[in-house]
Amino acid sequence: MIGYPPTEELYLGCECMDLDHVALFIYFPPSEEDSKSVIEDIDDLPTIFLSVSTRNYFEEVLPPIIYFYDKTAWQTFFYNNWYKRLWFAGRYIVNPTYLREFGILDAFDFQNKDLDKLDAFLALISSDIDDNIKENSELWLDDDRWAIRFQPTRLTFKNDDTEQPWQLGWEPHFKQRGFFGRIRYAFKYIFGIHSPEKNFTLYEKDAAKMRGMIKWVQEENFALLKKEASKIEGMTEWMQNINKKDEENDK
Ligand SMILES: [Zn+2]
Repeated sequence: MIGYPPTEELYLGCECMDLDHVALFIYFPPSEEDSKSVIEDIDDLPTIFLSVSTRNYFEEVLPPIIYFYDKTAWQTFFYNNWYKRLWFAGRYIVNPTYLREFGILDAFDFQNKDLDKLDAFLALISSDIDDNIKENSELWLDDDRWAIRFQPTRLTFKNDDTEQPWQLGWEPHFKQRGFFGRIRYAFKYIFGIHSPEKNFTLYEKDAAKMRGMIKWVQEENFALLKKEASKIEGMTEWMQNINKKDEENDK
């Protein structure tokens, strides 16, 4: 049994501001009774519970007739079309370790302004911060149906190589299962049979890793900021030189 009521909770929204994308962290401190008896048997307590909302976004069925001449509307239609669910589910059935890069349901990115708050919350169960985080580090959490993968992410744009700031994000994936399990969950996925709410548990080691990822993202963004600032300084010098030349010409 876990102590009730929770003493701390943290609601966070996604970078994209979509109201369907939320993450709720709840910390239940162990009750006094627990700390005497049960907890001694479980090394991993105390824990934080994470509830996330994620839905199936490959759901476009009809083409955008009203915007027939709008190229972007058609691109969105093909990008979000439900036939992709068949493709992902099929690949999962034949390959238990199938992993789509951007997840198979809605993905989520924490807002960078919230990372300090999240870090302070995770510190409730872990004073450690994992120092071995790299660009491609991953943290997996799973419940009995889904797995979500946390990792540092950043946006990239076609025809624009400006370095975007790093973010901490997660995306949902199928779990590794036996053949019949894969068939069952592949069909559930195709027909959209799942609740938008999914629940996970964070243990001390998970919190340490997530804190490490937050630190990594913040340090990288600080370095990026310094780099951008030095470009502006360089620019000022360049402007000053032009002004000097102008003044000399005027004389
Ligand atoms: Zn979002």
